[in-house]
Amino acid sequence: MDPAHRFETLAIHAGQPPDAATGAVMTPIYQTSTYQQQAVGQHKGFDYSRTANPTRKALEACLAALEGGAHGLAFASGMAAIDAVLRLLRPGDHVVAVNDLYGGSYRLFERIYSKFGLSFSYAPAQHSPDLLALIRPETRLVWIETPTNPWLNLCDLRGIGQAIRGLPGRPYLCVDNTFATPYLQRPLETGADLVLHSTTKYLGGHSDVVGGALVGNDPDLIQQIAFIQNAAGAVPGPMDCFLVLRGIKTLAIRMDRHASNAFQLARFLEDHPAVDHVYYPGSESHPQHELAKRQMRNGGGMVSFTVRGGPEKATRVAEATRIFALAESLGGVESLIEVPAAMTHLSTSDSPLAVDPSLVRLSVGLEAVEDLRADLDAALRA
Ligand code: PLP
Repeated sequence: MDPAHRFETLAIHAGQPPDAATGAVMTPIYQTSTYQQQAVGQHKGFDYSRTANPTRKALEACLAALEGGAHGLAFASGMAAIDAVLRLLRPGDHVVAVNDLYGGSYRLFERIYSKFGLSFSYAPAQHSPDLLALIRPETRLVWIETPTNPWLNLCDLRGIGQAIRGLPGRPYLCVDNTFATPYLQRPLETGADLVLHSTTKYLGGHSDVVGGALVGNDPDLIQQIAFIQNAAGAVPGPMDCFLVLRGIKTLAIRMDRHASNAFQLARFLEDHPAVDHVYYPGSESHPQHELAKRQMRNGGGMVSFTVRGGPEKATRVAEATRIFALAESLGGVESLIEVPAAMTHLSTSDSPLAVDPSLVRLSVGLEAVEDLRADLDAALRA
């Protein structure tokens, strides 16, 4: 597949030619753990499915094409992919991260890797100079999300990428691109070394699979991570790879509709008397809207807002919707609502990164926007 093809074409075809053995147009689910060898050590590129599997290989090639990278690696979950990046480091190494990030990433940093001699410093995503000022000689990794989870702040991808590229003995820059997806932004083009995904979210797109991915260009770096992927073994099964591949085929049209629904709901919430403040990068009211217009194709499908009346009212709103399901996760066709402080970000509760309990997070789905608006309105008035 020609990498010059446009996003929508790559999403449907990259890494997925018709099956050579049968002509099957859809990538087969190679549900096998092992492969017959012609002679000892002689095989067709596959010897054991932890190391490589044809369905996973198709997904990895497709992910690489979508991010504009040379190599993709698929993992059993987004956390398994994050874990593989951290395994590149050694005791004594330091990591700089945004202070508004997925609670599970923070938990892995502080509750697991700090035990193995890594240290972490945090700065606001929206203030690149503060983030860059934390980098010191032993900093080996800079970890950013943009938009962040759950406040939907943005990092200046180009500014941070350029600043880090110019540093002597520079750290790796890894961008968690789960919220934006490669349809909205491609961090490798602005200086990132690695792009990370929870494919559980928009890439899978139907809330029926858990998976993760890393994409990069540097063959040495990817070789190291492929070694970790095989040695530690947190790989996805072929059925899960098939589901992510199937989801990716409709990513572009889904992201456009997620964003147009989210934009209309953000507008509606901004004028709602029960809402205090709305956070949506696609809205002009967002303090980084100009940056969003420069680096993202649209504002994405996530909207956060604080509720007037405090945490109890926020919980009541999240429990009162009928179409928005009260659930963790995001990025599926169906709309979800949650209270990050008590759900996805509970692990930050006793830390400086604790989230305001009045914050409600929406993953805006593909239902009719009129129905979603009425559902939120009823819950806010209840
Ligand atoms: N990164 C972000 C931004 C997330 O929101 C999540 C999960 O919610 C993850 C990573 C972890 O992914 P997974 O749940 O697939 O392990």
